[in-house]
Amino acid sequence: MRFKQDFFEQLPEFYSQVWPAGLPNPRWLCWSPEAASLIGLQQPDEALLKGLAGNEEIPGASYYAQVYSGHQFGGYSPRLGDGRSIILGEALGPNGAWDVALKGAGPTPYSRHGDGRAVLRSAVREFLVSEALFHLGIPTTRALAVIGSELPVWRESLESGAITVRLARSHIRFGHFEYFCYSERGAKDKLLQLLNFTLAQHYPHLSQDMAGYRAWFFEVVRDTARMIAHWQAVGFAHGVMNTDNMSILGDSFDFGPFAFLDTFKEDFICNHSDPEGRYAFGQQPGVALWNLQRLAQALTPVLASDDLLAALNTYQDELVQAYLALMRAKLGWVADGSDEQDQRDLTLIGEFTQLLEANRLDYTQSFRRFAALDPNDPKPALRDDMINLQGFDAWYQGYRDRVGQPADVVQWQRQRAGANPKYILRNYLAQEAIAAAEQGDNQPLQQLFELLKKPFDEQPDKEDYAKRPPDWGQGLIMSCSS
Ligand code: AMP
Ligand code: MG
Ligand code: MG
Repeated sequence: MRFKQDFFEQLPEFYSQVWPAGLPNPRWLCWSPEAASLIGLQQPDEALLKGLAGNEEIPGASYYAQVYSGHQFGGYSPRLGDGRSIILGEALGPNGAWDVALKGAGPTPYSRHGDGRAVLRSAVREFLVSEALFHLGIPTTRALAVIGSELPVWRESLESGAITVRLARSHIRFGHFEYFCYSERGAKDKLLQLLNFTLAQHYPHLSQDMAGYRAWFFEVVRDTARMIAHWQAVGFAHGVMNTDNMSILGDSFDFGPFAFLDTFKEDFICNHSDPEGRYAFGQQPGVALWNLQRLAQALTPVLASDDLLAALNTYQDELVQAYLALMRAKLGWVADGSDEQDQRDLTLIGEFTQLLEANRLDYTQSFRRFAALDPNDPKPALRDDMINLQGFDAWYQGYRDRVGQPADVVQWQRQRAGANPKYILRNYLAQEAIAAAEQGDNQPLQQLFELLKKPFDEQPDKEDYAKRPPDWGQGLIMSCSS
């Protein structure tokens, strides 16, 4: 790895230097060749294993934990920071630089009561979801590898310690801006320093002045809205949308008790620690706006309220337009750009998801039906999935009117297959692969990982992975302990 150290060199007050505690008997559990190529790595080898486990120093790396704060479940926590993640610097690759972070590398000055560790289960989940979202075309941080070990780590029971090696275009969160607004003297200077750094690194087309800052916040709003549109369209619940888990670049970030929906349920909660459903699937669009409002509040020392409000006011439209584009691709609808059509389409989409919910249907499977659907067919296979046939027939009439007659049905179906994944990271699949890995059998994990690289392809020998979960694996609610 070749590094540059821009954050480390330019923002000395924004982190603490800290050394990894190391892992006993580290071993490779997962390796993503696709992520590796981003930073010019070819193969996992012994030297790299010792380095990423934190057992030997990596040449050119700096070791630091960033400081930030954040709103957690609605309440402000003035000092969070990387409690178990140590950043090595920005690794240079053929198409830009990527922060490399060792998540689970040991305690830092921000660990509070935590042990600074991650368990195999949560490390593997973060690895799988990062790469799965990427292959679904959704903006996300990436995962290079998971390193397992013989370190005992105590959660609800005894587990083993692991490290996820995360690659991120940036680790700067909404919470970074909150920290430097609320909890330091000379807040405005720090805020400007952070903002100018962010612009220089990630928004080179913007000037470091009021006009640039204003344009930047519009982009943050837009990119956040687009990320949320992707989550809602694919049926992904993040689970812990605290402002410290929101990347400033609009990348899906910091995964814990996430879930892809199985049976569609608007108010599905995937996080055991969220009984009130603050971060339920259907709440995500509103929560992201709330988070953007917290960010805007933190930016008031450097940006005019009118500008902040103007940007926040674009959120709804950015979200709806991005969501409509994704859903139209899934359903095979061409847009005419009119507001009337937008409204009608949203209604028709809403009616469809209500049908899914009322008929207790699987979100992914139901949309995949469109990849084999002929709009000329009055009784498509999707109809056979329904209990309420009348309800479906009424909706389907509206759907057919909206689609019209595809000129080439085969090509139309191929396009639907490219917009409706067949394979997603169902929680029960992750659980099975993790259980095997905990017993020393990595093969199910490797197979699942390979599957998730081609979510839109038919993989005939892997039909089972597209099935609905067995009873034990339906609507799994994950513990936050990780
Ligand atoms: P998360 O829910 O993973 O986003 O974590 C929220 C905050 O708690 C962050 O500041 C983390 O760094 C910190 N944290 C989570 N787990 C641990 C742990 N095991 N040890 C130390 N800090 C942790
Ligand atoms: Mg976090
Ligand atoms: Mg975290």
